[in-house]
Parts: sequence; structure tokens; C-alpha cells
Amino acid sequence: MPLKYSIMVQVENLTYDYPSHRALHGLTFSIPSGSITALVGPNGAGKTTLMRCMAGLTRPLTGTIMINGTDVLEEPRKVHRQIGFLADFFGLYDKLTIYQALTYFAKAHEVPNNEVDKRVTSIIERLHLTDKTHSDIGHLSRGMKQRVAIGQTMVHNPQFLILDEPASGLDPEARHDLANLFKELNKDGITLLVSSHILAELDEYSNNLVIMREGKIVDNDFFEQKNTNSRHLLLKLTQANGNLKSILETHELISNIDCTETTAAFNFGGTETQQAELMMLLIGKGLSVLSFAEEKVNMQDKYLDTIKQKNN
Ligand code: ATP
Repeated sequence: MPLKYSIMVQVENLTYDYPSHRALHGLTFSIPSGSITALVGPNGAGKTTLMRCMAGLTRPLTGTIMINGTDVLEEPRKVHRQIGFLADFFGLYDKLTIYQALTYFAKAHEVPNNEVDKRVTSIIERLHLTDKTHSDIGHLSRGMKQRVAIGQTMVHNPQFLILDEPASGLDPEARHDLANLFKELNKDGITLLVSSHILAELDEYSNNLVIMREGKIVDNDFFEQKNTNSRHLLLKLTQANGNLKSILETHELISNIDCTETTAAFNFGGTETQQAELMMLLIGKGLSVLSFAEEKVNMQDKYLDTIKQKNN
């Protein structure tokens, strides 16, 4: 992890045992501030156990978890004021209205009385539930209940949200809305950790990937190009050109070149205008450019590759 990013979560040597089963085997990893981290892995990998440890709800055998500089095991109450946690199976008060439930959670989290109404109303708006403000939660659809549950986790303005399978059971439109909500919250500076089995959607909103398997971290990738000018570009030529690599190597904004005779993948640290200039330069040097575009890192492929490698 590059040091230029500040760290929201630092986990060191985390081990968790159930009575007859070791669920986490000495995990060490960090989560950059301002990221949306996707936590993925097969059933039983240990995602829920890890999230519960991070939320201070269960005590590991060994290890430390620092969230925003505070030790979860030493000062869980302080950490609870800074985080929101959505459990995989969450409970809601069916007989309360959305407004009542969020007000209750705001007060439980010690939001000052004179701010509660404003905070609750703004969360209801943000979750697109305004027309249901005074409806009983028991009468809402599953997707709406999911949004209320997320609202309850963020009513005290946490800096870090831990969401265990928030999209499970939602229809495609509701999942799309949820992805947009994550992006909006992230723009407001909130760091998110989201576990999910819906890999195709991870690309849409996450920029950090943590892959778990059998209680271990098997991969942790921070896709920094989503947050910076650095992009991964893929160049394809219609015919072989032996000069391709040497032309690219002399360009000061290009790094990490991976070439065949007719393709080149590389990192480009320039603006879009500079990218257009690079294209003109390549054509000017006589390269028969077929295509030249940003290559998005596909988390789904990355996940499946990683899991397959570990199976072999
Ligand atoms: P899923 O994707 O199915 O939700 P997960 O990655 O969240 O799985 P965990 O629920 O953390 O995985 O479970 C990790 C391991 O710990 C599994 O082998 C599971 O059987 C075991 N486990 C979970 N809860 C308990 C428990 N209460 N007692 C004993 N073992 C448990």
C-alpha cells in the first residue's frame, strides 16, 4: 500500500476462534481512508466474523484493529461513535415509522436533540424514502427496509461504514440505487467496507478489493487509478511493430509497460489531453493503431483468477 494514503483501518495479526473452528488466521491488512473496499470470498471464508471483530462486537483471540487511530478492543465505545455497522441479518422495529426508528437511533447515538430532526430528515431524503417517512417499517418492501437499516447505521454521521451483504435480496434497480448511494456517501468522505457476492457490481463502486478464503486474506488490491490521474491503457496495433516498446519507454508519463508485438498495456500518468497527444505521437511515428483506450480493472475476473489459483 503506498504511504501517500492515510489509513482508516489497520488490522494486525487477527486470529479468531469459534469453539471448534479457527475462523480467522492471523490477518494483517489495511484499508485506506476514503476508499470503498469490497470484501469478497466464498461462503465460510470469514467475512462476517472479520466484520464483527472490526465493529467491536466480538473479541478475537489475538491481534489488534485500529480504526481511525483508535484501538477497537481498548476503546470500543469511542469506535462505535465513528462507525456504522449493518449486520448480514439485521433487525428492524416493524411497528415504528421510518421517522420514529431513525429518531430513536439518532438519540441512542447521542445526536444533540436540536439536530435530530434535521439529520433524520436529510437521511430519509438521501435514501429516497421521503414519501414513506411516516409509514410503518413493517409495511415496506425489502429494498426499502434495507435502506432504512442502512439509514440507521449512518444517522450519527460515522466516518466508516461496515456493511455485511447490504445488497442481498434486492432487485437490480434497488441494487443500482444502493451502488449510487455508496458512491454519494464516499464523495462525502465516508470510507466504506462492503461484503458482497455480487461481483459484477463491485466494479461500479469499489476501488479496493480484499479477497478472503478459509480465514485468510488471499489478495488485497488498491486500484489507485480510480482516484488519481494514473490510468491503465491498452494499445492495439493492426500489425507487428518492433519499435513499439522503445517508443513507449522514452515517454516520461508512461510506466509499467507490458508489450507484445501488436499490443502494449501500460500506466499513463497524464491528463486526457496528454493522452490524446500521445495517440497523435504514436500515429506520427508510423504505428498502425487499431485501438487505444483505458483498460478497466475487472474485479470479477481478478476475484475468479485469484480463487482459481488458490484451488490449484
Ligand atoms: P458467507 O459468505 O456464507 O456469509 P462468511 O465469509 O461471512 O460466509 P463466516 O460467517 O465468518 O463466513 O464464517 C467463517 C467460518 O466460521 C465458517 O467456517 C463458519 O462455519 C464458522 N462459523 C461461523 N459462525 C460460527 C459459530 N457461531 N460457531 C462455530 N463456527 C462458526
